[in-house]
Amino acid sequence: MIHYSCDCCRRPIDSTTDLRYVVKLEVQATMDLPDLDSAEDERDHLLEIEELLDELGEPNLDYVDEDYQRRRYDLCAQCYQDYIKNPLGVEKTHRVGFSQN
Ligand SMILES: [Zn+2]
Repeated sequence: MIHYSCDCCRRPIDSTTDLRYVVKLEVQATMDLPDLDSAEDERDHLLEIEELLDELGEPNLDYVDEDYQRRRYDLCAQCYQDYIKNPLGVEKTHRVGFSQN
């Protein structure tokens, strides 16, 4: 039998009696690149981007793969309730996005 523990509060989770919440996090660096099949004038923009990347010391666009992260967390029911309210850990003192009507 596999024993789990909460990755947040370290509480043991009995997989036969306790709910376990699995958080799968996938983070990928991305940017909008011009479509290679589009009009000629768009190619100039791609060249500009390549030149810009060359100046930054990036020889090609493969750097995106290096900025890819996958994480997996087990959470107990209590920590899940807290996590899902604020998954990015943003301070809740600023109530941005709440309408005032
Ligand atoms: Zn927990």
